[in-house]
Amino acid sequence: MAAKKVVVLPGDDAVPEAMAAAMEVLGAMKLDIEYVQFPPGERWKRGDTEVRARAAIDASDSTLFGATSGKTNAILHLRWGRQTYANVRPARYMKGALSPLRSPEGIDFVIVRENLEDLYLGLEGPLSELRPLKAQSRFLRAPLDTSAEGRYAIKVITERNTRRVAAFACELALKRKRAGGPGKVTCTSKYNMLRESDGFFRAIVEETVAGFPELRYEQFIVDDFARRVVQSPHELDVVVAPNLYGDILSDAAAGTVGGLGVAPSGCYGDDYAYFESVHGTAPDIQGLGIINPTATILSAAMMLDYLGFAEASTRLERAVRTIYAEGKTLTPDQGGHAKTEEFARAVVANL
Ligand code: ATP
Repeated sequence: MAAKKVVVLPGDDAVPEAMAAAMEVLGAMKLDIEYVQFPPGERWKRGDTEVRARAAIDASDSTLFGATSGKTNAILHLRWGRQTYANVRPARYMKGALSPLRSPEGIDFVIVRENLEDLYLGLEGPLSELRPLKAQSRFLRAPLDTSAEGRYAIKVITERNTRRVAAFACELALKRKRAGGPGKVTCTSKYNMLRESDGFFRAIVEETVAGFPELRYEQFIVDDFARRVVQSPHELDVVVAPNLYGDILSDAAAGTVGGLGVAPSGCYGDDYAYFESVHGTAPDIQGLGIINPTATILSAAMMLDYLGFAEASTRLERAVRTIYAEGKTLTPDQGGHAKTEEFARAVVANL
């Protein structure tokens, strides 16, 4: 029996092509891992299939997940079922990647995005579902006419989820500090306008970081933070944000270091983690064989580290970096002409 078991869900549209490349690389590494592979676009139905797929995840140590456009619906179990509350999205520049910035060298920060709540609970509906609102909030700016045609969405920030994602960010900042990082946590939200919800998030993060005297703390309103991601990304270390802002800003962060093709991520809970690229399913390039598999391969490297294969993780990341530094086998999004498959072979050759 292999030491570790990993479920592989290749996802939808163009992403299975990136996943095939990542699996070629992982296969070549010959680690003591059993991969339980599902077909692309696997849709879980109620009943047998769903039970079996859930059981596979529950019996595994981790999942490598391709993005979904709705066909692969395992994400609900991976995220809410397994309570993977911290979405870690590193933005680290690799020499040779196609950054729009003049001096991207040295950009190395991580956005830790709360992964379970905020506006992503899916609590939406017609305004008429709301009881007529009297001034229920101290900060209500104008009365709301709930008889008007319209829709609402509810944003939820809980103390429990905020505390655990903040603590996760602090532990990560400490780990990075031990490796030479600055030891800083930055909190961002719209706490000046959303004083109850985002203000609560900010206050709990600040309180949590105060329990880590080795770390520095700073906070920026999210619009100011967006500017900083572009103008002074070198000053950031570990950033913690509510779900929606974290989602949007990590795409922007990816943009500073070479775009969605190179941005990996991992979603961590207390007893499970799964790994997926930051990008979506890239339907516009499906079937062309040119999707950049770097994001998926680097997500796999994060997974290897999580599973305890630290040396293999570093080796894989180095192999990818070498290809960027050489610049001979890059995919079109990075200004090259290589196919997804050629990139994968180059990684294997550099392992
Ligand atoms: P989602 O909402 O599911 O996160 P998205 O809006 O971020 O999706 P993507 O599917 O990530 O959209 O694609 C955005 C653009 O980036 C598309 O033009 C797509 O082709 C391109 N893109 C995304 N990932 C890659 C990749 N790995 N390699 C090359 N191009 C990519």
